[in-house]
Amino acid sequence: MSGPLQTTIAGSLPKPAWLATPEMLWAPWQLPPERLAEGQRDAVLIALKDQETAGIDVVTDGEQSRQHFVHGFLRHLDGIDFDKRVTIGIRADRYKAEVPTVVGAIRRRAPVHADEVRWARAHTQRKLKFTLPGPMTIVDTIADEHYRDRRALAFAFAQVINEEARDLAALGLDVLQLDEPAFNVYLDDVERWGIDALHAATAGVGCTTAVHICYGYGIKANIDWKQTLGSEWRQYERTFPLLAKSRIRQVSLECANSRVPLTLLRLLEGKDVLAGAIDVASRTVETPEQVAANIRAVMEHVPPERLFPCTNCGMVVLPRDVVRGKLAALAAGAALVRRELPA
Ligand code: ZN
Repeated sequence: MSGPLQTTIAGSLPKPAWLATPEMLWAPWQLPPERLAEGQRDAVLIALKDQETAGIDVVTDGEQSRQHFVHGFLRHLDGIDFDKRVTIGIRADRYKAEVPTVVGAIRRRAPVHADEVRWARAHTQRKLKFTLPGPMTIVDTIADEHYRDRRALAFAFAQVINEEARDLAALGLDVLQLDEPAFNVYLDDVERWGIDALHAATAGVGCTTAVHICYGYGIKANIDWKQTLGSEWRQYERTFPLLAKSRIRQVSLECANSRVPLTLLRLLEGKDVLAGAIDVASRTVETPEQVAANIRAVMEHVPPERLFPCTNCGMVVLPRDVVRGKLAALAAGAALVRRELPA
């Protein structure tokens, strides 16, 4: 469908228990290597079907083929040693993660996600979005013994993201989204080089471009961090004016159950706003009325033609039945508000 208030999701969905351990980040695969790709493809069909059944307008593959939204892409690049794993503090030391190490020049030998995009594109008639990690967030989720400079490393990744993004867009994507949760952490770097790196990563990409900037998955480290951010979360106040001037068309952000002052959304004048109307840090399924109330609150600052009701973040760590409920509530809530719009 087209028209105002088209619904979409940030990106990830839970994987079936036969594919990966449920409800955890970096969950180990449950299938032997020789059966993994087939299992991942089957899981994509389920992810697409779940979104279609719920009534989501712009769907994703649920990131069913990636163990993690950053490292799934990195696995197939040259210059990264996955056997050289070190534990580092990421997102300004908010939590520890075991990460691979950059040991040489970053290069892409071949398209990484082309088969996944072809498969998803062949199995849904809906608009299709695909997500890739953004340069700053990759830099923040890897150890580096080669470039030894975050900006230089970010632009090396921007180059390979750009090669990948162009290839994937050409396979029939409607939206290519870069995930940059690090944008809410390193505000000075966003201004110094983060936007430029996004531009390098999306130059010449033949579909709508988006960036997702959130306060993280609903895991304990993130929930604890949010408690330290005060009564108003104003990180977006610095990044949105920069994004408003950027060439990125859509901005996906967190606002359901958050302390983001919604007036900040006015700083995204001219952009499509993918506003989180679903809280991914709670296992309580929203009612359509609650979703509608979230959408109406955002609509005080963003016109419905530019507003895409979305989830706050990825839902990979949530139980599947909860997620199905949340998807249905998202679509039903948007439908309620759509009926109130002048014809
Ligand atoms: Zn997110």
